[in-house]
Amino acid sequence: MTEMTATTETLLLNGRWQANASGETLAVINPAYGRPMGAISVASGDDVDAAVRAAEAAFPRWAATSGRERAALMHRAMDIFRSQYLESCARLMTEENGKPLNDSYKEVQYSADVIDFYADEARRIQGTHFAGDMGATHSFVWKQPLGVVAAILPWNFPVDLLAWKIGPGLAAGCSFVIKPSEEAPLSALKFVQAFLDAGIPEGVLNVVTGAGAVGAALVAHPAVSKVAFTGSTATGIKIAQTAALTMKHTTLELGGSAPCVVFADADVGAAVRGALRRCYSHTGQICISVNRIFVQAPVFDAFVEQFVEIAGRLSVAADGLQQPQADMGPMINAAAVEKVRVQVSDAVQYGARVLVGGAVPEGAPYDPQGYFYSPTVLVDVQPDMLVMREETFGPVAPIVPFSTAAEAFQLANATPYGLASYVYTRDLDTAFHAAKALRSGGVGINVNDITDIRGPFGGMKMSGVGRELGEPGLDSYLETKHIRMGYRSTI
Ligand code: NAD
Repeated sequence: MTEMTATTETLLLNGRWQANASGETLAVINPAYGRPMGAISVASGDDVDAAVRAAEAAFPRWAATSGRERAALMHRAMDIFRSQYLESCARLMTEENGKPLNDSYKEVQYSADVIDFYADEARRIQGTHFAGDMGATHSFVWKQPLGVVAAILPWNFPVDLLAWKIGPGLAAGCSFVIKPSEEAPLSALKFVQAFLDAGIPEGVLNVVTGAGAVGAALVAHPAVSKVAFTGSTATGIKIAQTAALTMKHTTLELGGSAPCVVFADADVGAAVRGALRRCYSHTGQICISVNRIFVQAPVFDAFVEQFVEIAGRLSVAADGLQQPQADMGPMINAAAVEKVRVQVSDAVQYGARVLVGGAVPEGAPYDPQGYFYSPTVLVDVQPDMLVMREETFGPVAPIVPFSTAAEAFQLANATPYGLASYVYTRDLDTAFHAAKALRSGGVGINVNDITDIRGPFGGMKMSGVGRELGEPGLDSYLETKHIRMGYRSTI
């Protein structure tokens, strides 16, 4: 574990890193040890206002640059990031949110790819035009950048989900005030630094750090045109309510409770490996984590047997820097561990059986102050148990048998969430029916990840509104304007 960082100059206002004038700070906790590894400055209301005003002042000039210039700057920033900051950014991420170092590397590399992808798209933003059909008129449809965007981030993918926002947003010509998560803010600051080094104009990217109140002040600010938020559904609801008061655009990427449906004709080994990784990767703390597994009766026993065998051997890093290849690390905080503990004991109380885990790992090498929970497998689970109704956001796999496809789809959809679903089948008809029937923004068929830079990502139902990535991800930072022009019908 590294020592607490010396500086708390974590506010970026108009191109200058600074601390809050009052000196108020918040510790950043390393979840493997339950102890501080850094600290951030808590932005005051004046800091939030200064950040928004800086972004507002920078916006017209940034919006007026050519796509070619914006693309060049974004590519330059990622060249700098890869050569100077990638390593330290990944290490900070492991220290602040616990994911094993190799997973942090994957995240930061992918984040740089996202920026490069949208840098290229900056040069392809186009409108359209058409001849009016009521007299001598011609219409032009322009795409213009929205304005100042508040990007509010969660802790679980602190850099990637920042890239999903500033990638398309900067390409479109928007300026930003970024509010990293108070749980994992430091890796995001490294990412932003690469843009400063690349010469991004002052005020185009600003950062305010602190807890939820800082985010709330940003959402309420009248000069913010759009809120791009990823986080819990509870926070998303509050943001939607406040944002509506000033008619802000919103992209809300919220919680999930993804089902994985395994049909009897599936490659069971592939389904086991796919579901396992998506259950336990990042200790189950991913919005598209598999939260509930439904397996068709003829292969249920074989699936459970293989799943249990591998789940029992998963490695849990006591420190993700020391064990970079581990399958998972600690959870983010004590409340997260408690939520899992409550869900598992509720399930057990009502008849579920624990086949693997079901407890906090104790003794060496785990620091007793760290926030650990063992990979857990449950069977004999009922639909009304908490673990089946709520987002678990922890390393728990409830496995449930089903008979017919209709029953599986009904069980899979029996949740307020609708972000991701997974299906394992080798039958094309089953695959198509599942893709249609499952109420989620993404459906993975024989894959355990619905993410592709080129494809839209987002939720149905209580998992949110709007889409990131792909073409819709860029379009959500652009305003559509219709210019209708009359001309003399004869000359
Ligand atoms: P959270 O909602 O607690 O916090 C997210 C961010 O919102 C933080 O920066 C926080 O400070 C800020 N915030 C808190 N209250 C606020 C308010 N009233 N107004 C404005 N901002 C406020 O979420 P979290 O615990 O950081 O992240 C975990 C959640 O995020 C899970 O539910 C997970 O499913 C979800 N998530 C969703 C996606 C997706 O793409 N749909 C991706 C990752 C995580």
